[in-house]
Amino acid sequence: MRKQCLAAFGSLLFGLFLSAAAQGAPFNWPQGARAAVSLGYDDGLASQLDHVVPALNARGLRGSFYLPINSPTLPARQGEWRAAAAAGHELGNHSLFHGCSARGPGRDWVLPHRDLDQQTPAAVQEQILGASTWLQGPDGRGGPSFPPPCLDLTASGQDFVTALQPHFVAYRATGPGMVSDTEQLRPYAMPVYFVEGMSGEQLIALVEQAAARGALVSLLFHGVGAEHLSVTREAHDQLLDHLARHKDRFWTDSFVNIMEAARRQAGR
Ligand SMILES: [Zn+2]
Repeated sequence: MRKQCLAAFGSLLFGLFLSAAAQGAPFNWPQGARAAVSLGYDDGLASQLDHVVPALNARGLRGSFYLPINSPTLPARQGEWRAAAAAGHELGNHSLFHGCSARGPGRDWVLPHRDLDQQTPAAVQEQILGASTWLQGPDGRGGPSFPPPCLDLTASGQDFVTALQPHFVAYRATGPGMVSDTEQLRPYAMPVYFVEGMSGEQLIALVEQAAARGALVSLLFHGVGAEHLSVTREAHDQLLDHLARHKDRFWTDSFVNIMEAARRQAGR
């Protein structure tokens, strides 16, 4: 009888342990911040150098800039990207040529020679690693995180991203969502909000939602006040003002810095 009781007590404890592990632990962000905010800017666009880097620097905030190596700003304004890296911003790997699948709606802009469905995983992997080598020049770190262009994870129908994981701290690779505890952390499938067209109020509402949940949130920008998938400069400034005014609640840093902290806490 006593043995049975001990066994039942043991399995109860084990069950409690399992459910605690399943829930995970809340994150402890630096200086007691309530949310970790990653501001990501894709495609190496001119408006990011014209407006975003100065706007972040003026407020003491850091972001992540994901550069395809064929972006026209790389030959034309390489010194400015180097200066952005020296100021603490992340220059991340967005591949050599921004290859995407040409299949499906809205992909008629993908040129045939950059169509991932016309390439082998091995060829695409070589190109991604080539982009890392190039990025070692300006940032010294070789593009430590990787947001696959178009969130496409296959080439000719085969996964090309899994084998590249040892080369990167994290991937930003799924649709909208926040990560609110260590158990939910999947470093190579991090969610991201596409924020094109959002107002300042909508952007602020997203980071406030993250603060209410103690979460890690990633926002994905392209053009700011220009170019494609853009937000207005006013909306962007409004968000940055909010983050700068409330640094006690928001830890705004590069994706790689946030992911290294989150991975340490989650032990994965
Ligand atoms: Zn892109």
